[in-house]
Amino acid sequence: MNNDNPSSDAGNVPDCSALVAQWIRPEVRAINAYHVPNPGELIKLDAMENPYSWPEALRDSWLAQISSTAINRYPDPGADELKSALRKALAIPDDCSILLGNGSDELIQMIAMAIATPERVVLAPEPSFVMYRMIALMVGMRYEGVPLNASFELDSDAMLAAIKEHEPALIFLAYPNNPTGNLFDKDAIAAILKASPGLVVVDEAYFPFAGSTLMDWLQQYPNLLVMRTVSKMGLAGLRLGYLVGSEQWLQHIDKMRLPYNINVLTQESARFALENIAVFDAQTRQICEDRETLFQQLCALDNLEVFPSQANFILFRVPGWASQDIFEQLKQRCVLIKNLGNQPGLLKDCLRVTVGTQQENAQFLQALRDIIKP
Ligand SMILES: *Cc1c(COP(=O)(O)O)cnc(C)c1O
Repeated sequence: MNNDNPSSDAGNVPDCSALVAQWIRPEVRAINAYHVPNPGELIKLDAMENPYSWPEALRDSWLAQISSTAINRYPDPGADELKSALRKALAIPDDCSILLGNGSDELIQMIAMAIATPERVVLAPEPSFVMYRMIALMVGMRYEGVPLNASFELDSDAMLAAIKEHEPALIFLAYPNNPTGNLFDKDAIAAILKASPGLVVVDEAYFPFAGSTLMDWLQQYPNLLVMRTVSKMGLAGLRLGYLVGSEQWLQHIDKMRLPYNINVLTQESARFALENIAVFDAQTRQICEDRETLFQQLCALDNLEVFPSQANFILFRVPGWASQDIFEQLKQRCVLIKNLGNQPGLLKDCLRVTVGTQQENAQFLQALRDIIKP
């Protein structure tokens, strides 16, 4: 992976392959590393980022605020002020506790580590967020994926049967789901919560775009935790996720946390951003409006298959085309989206585009029109 040091080819580095084969766990060797392409000069519509930067005045006051941060000191280990700011800005119920992660990816890992034994099962519908499976394998748990139905809705019968068969210790449900963009049916989720013997984590990474949350179910279900992140609302670079639920669960999951996992600049910057949440709310509203426009425009293209989304991205398929060809030709036109369609199954030939600025969306659409025009 690292080609920075060409002299490593000169033979100064010993051959470790036999040792690696002996000691790195086979299931780890079998994992394909999560590949993040280098965007270079491309219009980047592949990673569900908020395309907007901050107004200049806001940027200036942020810089003024973080300039006095004591970066020679360790951060507040509990990040208590940041937690209060989250509570206030995001209406987190008073009787719920909050646990912070270095991105919600780290929270997924901490939850799995607290629960993992080799016999226990992590279960998630598929297609969904790939880290559920990756992290289950990383911590040495078994993983079971249960296919969604053809309209990407939970297959209740299949889910309930799988819960009965595998008695999963941990279930992940992304609400809305990534990469499909839809909100699963609430009754289907309630049935899963009632049938599940273990913990159910509802991942609300796209909450800012969804207009729906299960946070108010926390009082009702003792096996529910709700996870969110500030990444998709416009702070992906800070790496901050938060898990909400009963202190009885969170006190133990917290033991898996490495000390000081939320650095001082993230604590300060996130607190500052939450005090100015109106800026992000306005950006989010804009993105939701533009999502509807882009959806209509995609639907208007000849026989495109476009899936409704409650997130900041849209999944689609171009009948008669391999997704790989669409992906490559968009890239030649300097537009980077995500190709999910190389494997057989529900996502065969599907592509996912993140909603960008109006100009970026227009450039993407024009490029797509140019590619598929008869
Ligand atoms: C992007 C995403 C995450 C990861 O968010 P980070 O906080 O940036 O780690 C988690 N869950 C889902 C469903 C996502 O799409």
